[in-house]
Amino acid sequence: MDETQNPAKRAKTFQGSEGVEIVIAPNAGACFGVVRAIKLGHQAAKRSKEEAVQAFGPLVHNPKSIQELESAGVEIVNDPDEIRDGTVILRSHGVKQEIEAEFKRRGIKVVDATCPLVKKPQRIASSLGQKGYFLVLVGNSDHPEVKGVLSYFGRADYLVTYTAKDLERIPTNSKVGILAQTTIEFKVLDEIHKAAQARFREVVLYNTICDATSVRQDEASILAQKADVMVVVGGRNSSNTTKLVKICKSYQPDTYLIEDKQEIIPSWFTGKKKIGITGGASTPQEYVDEVGTYIARLIESGFDMVIPEPDSTLIEEAYGTD
Ligand code: SF4
Repeated sequence: MDETQNPAKRAKTFQGSEGVEIVIAPNAGACFGVVRAIKLGHQAAKRSKEEAVQAFGPLVHNPKSIQELESAGVEIVNDPDEIRDGTVILRSHGVKQEIEAEFKRRGIKVVDATCPLVKKPQRIASSLGQKGYFLVLVGNSDHPEVKGVLSYFGRADYLVTYTAKDLERIPTNSKVGILAQTTIEFKVLDEIHKAAQARFREVVLYNTICDATSVRQDEASILAQKADVMVVVGGRNSSNTTKLVKICKSYQPDTYLIEDKQEIIPSWFTGKKKIGITGGASTPQEYVDEVGTYIARLIESGFDMVIPEPDSTLIEEAYGTD
């Protein structure tokens, strides 16, 4: 999916007093898979009466979202054996199929929050396994998404790698199917695909990369080159958020990572004319917008540390109602 086509997400710019401009990157904040997982988590909590609602592993890498889910009654459980009766929610990047089957066997109700873009490589892996292909999965073997996809392949003749050289370990007469972890860079997949074409008798490529991460990274680099200061909103435990910080810092050393608007220090913005804001793919968009509104109020108050109580009309004044 090309997220830049999503009309719901557009750059938000606020022209504040003293000519200060606050710009939020067009796709800053949660991808649709994360939005869906959070929504399914809250819906499951609302539906359940007495029964336990548990998420297998953190549903999203954002401490604030996790706190909200826990307050709503969703318990985060990391060991599948600790999942009790009731409902279990499967995380957006999927689980091994045997774990899901075991939950069902034990009579636990499964709410599948696996992102549709992760379901796709799972389905393709299963088909490649049945047709006798050697699977090359381009990605990180420790990542839960990769472990999940491999479980659908269901055979031992696979390779998980980031480097074309590793293809030398596969017999040249193999027919090879190539899949990608959703968050890898296209150039890595392309390099391995080209090397595979030169080596094997038959190669089929499935580009299963999701562009949510790359779209946010491209926007962050463009914004950071123009801004006098950058604020990145997201979990410190989120790899896509910390990557955004790294990219922004390479263009704008005055880059700050925050999980919540309360962490903002007013002096960051003293004398700055253009303030850029972005957020990781695991950060709900409203958190990013809240930060924009908060900074706008801060500037309006003359960088006074005492911030007036939020006024719901300010968001509309600052960013419009769309
Ligand atoms: S990053 Fe892409 S694949 Fe992962 S949850 Fe978001 S939309 Fe789905």
